[in-house]
Amino acid sequence: MDKRGGLRHYISSVCGILVLFLITILVPVIILQAVIYYNRFDARRADELQSNLELARAISAAFSAYVNDILRQEKALSVMFASPVPLPESYIRRVMAGSAGEYPGLRDFAWINTKGIITVSSRPGVAGLDISDRSYFQNILKGKSYVVSDLFTPRTGDMPSFVIARAVRSDSGRLIGVMRALVVADGLRSVLTVHRPEQGAIAVIDSRGYAVYGYPEVHMSWRERNWAGSQAVLRRALAGTETTGIIASALTGKDIMVGITPVNGTEWVAEASRPVSEAMAPVYREMFRNFLLLLTVAFIAFILAVRISRRITVPLNALRKSSQAIGLKGYTERVQVSGPEEIEELAATINTMSEDIRFKEEERESYIHTISHDLRAPLTLIQGHAQLLQRFIDEAGIDDNVCLSVVTIIKNTHSMNTMIQDLVDSARLSSGQLKLDIKSLDLRKFVINLLEEAGTVMDMERVKAYIPHGLPNVKADPARLERIMMNLLSNGLKYSEGEVTVSAEKTDDMLTVSVSDYGTGIPEEEQPLLFERFYRAKGAGRREGLGLGLYITKGLVEAHGGHIWLSSQAGVGNTFCFTLPIHTIK
Ligand code: ADP
Repeated sequence: MDKRGGLRHYISSVCGILVLFLITILVPVIILQAVIYYNRFDARRADELQSNLELARAISAAFSAYVNDILRQEKALSVMFASPVPLPESYIRRVMAGSAGEYPGLRDFAWINTKGIITVSSRPGVAGLDISDRSYFQNILKGKSYVVSDLFTPRTGDMPSFVIARAVRSDSGRLIGVMRALVVADGLRSVLTVHRPEQGAIAVIDSRGYAVYGYPEVHMSWRERNWAGSQAVLRRALAGTETTGIIASALTGKDIMVGITPVNGTEWVAEASRPVSEAMAPVYREMFRNFLLLLTVAFIAFILAVRISRRITVPLNALRKSSQAIGLKGYTERVQVSGPEEIEELAATINTMSEDIRFKEEERESYIHTISHDLRAPLTLIQGHAQLLQRFIDEAGIDDNVCLSVVTIIKNTHSMNTMIQDLVDSARLSSGQLKLDIKSLDLRKFVINLLEEAGTVMDMERVKAYIPHGLPNVKADPARLERIMMNLLSNGLKYSEGEVTVSAEKTDDMLTVSVSDYGTGIPEEEQPLLFERFYRAKGAGRREGLGLGLYITKGLVEAHGGHIWLSSQAGVGNTFCFTLPIHTIK
């Protein structure tokens, strides 16, 4: 059976149908689940991006408020420098220091004159510093009213800081000086920290894309602070557009979901993020749980399908075997099955049918017995007395005609006996009740004896045996082998005029026996029919016979484990050959 045939066979089996049924249910369920989870992933992703953006907006608002607060304070402090009555510097410094202490992360307030020199600072040691080259001072000179600088390292310390600077102008708009607040980036901790579960993060980033402050806090080198290089989303936000997206984290390399928004009044942005794996974990977990559940259900369903199919196929197989036995033997033992109700009913029907057949077989057997016994008993008696008569006639030398009559009686009782035997054997063969009594036989001796004994009923002078010495013994039932030989020989004698020969030879592990006559042969179209029950060839004419001889011969040969065939040539004659198994001595 080829693979496709095997698959087709499996699909049309009970188990295959159940599995196919399961698959037709499971496949749409799996597709539906896939669609549901695809949508759920999409929704979860959109939710997470949105909540990051909202958090970024809150961070942005908090930072913006902090900057505005400091700017307002700077405005208040600058009044001291615009006073018509000059105030003592020590007083101004004290007020500035007091104010600086109010703001987390703020290192100092300082007053810068128009030349870029710090003249007064809340922190000692800063006065006198020249910051005229700093870009925030340059921008104020260019006319900006205030500036939030990018992150830099101040000359007075190594902590990354930034500046919130405000221009102080006269009523006419002339620049009087600059009030500056220096803020240490890490100081933003108490202003911006928002606790996020697990790996959720926030950050504020300056206009060049440098991370100023981030939570959770990690120590970053200047190179690590530069995020703009690797994040296109960030560059878009720095250009002023609120944005969301999935990017690789500049710090961990993990994929993160970010929401970034510009900080009002500055060129900075605020960012909130969470790793994709963490944001999606609940959906993954749920999907995994459902997948496991589906797998378990599918597994249980498959096991059930196999068990259900076995509950059907096991009794069905038992029924098939018993039906085959009925086909072969005509009946079978009672078959006991347990399974679905319909199959149990079928088993009951088969059992009833088998019992009916057995009953009929028994009837037939007793009928065969009656025929073989009751009909043959008087015949045997007639035959016996006729043979006795023949002996008296021979001894008394009585005339030829009387002798001929007796011989005719003997021959006809013999052929009647043979016909009855044919009917009985044919019935036994067709009901499979033929039993063999196998012996080890020397074929040469067997054939010679047979020819001698049959001389009284057949014209054995026409028969010549050419069986070589030294052939191995065959395994055969002597009575049945006699029937085989007698059938073939009597046909040869009956349907031809001349000599009939018997020969034998060894072929592999069999002996082939051939019976040949030199009659007219059998037409080719009739040859395949010869071994059928009651078939008589057209050439049989009025010669006596039932058409059972070859049928029985074939059945007997095959019961021995051999086979029979005919080679016939029109005008030359027929050779019937059959094989018998050799008796090997172990
Ligand atoms: P029966 O001889 O009783 O008719 P068989 O079964 O022995 O039945 O033979 C079937 C038919 O085969 C015969 O009727 C006969 O026509 C043909 N047949 C058998 N043996 C020979 C033979 N040796 N020569 C010619 N025809 C034969």
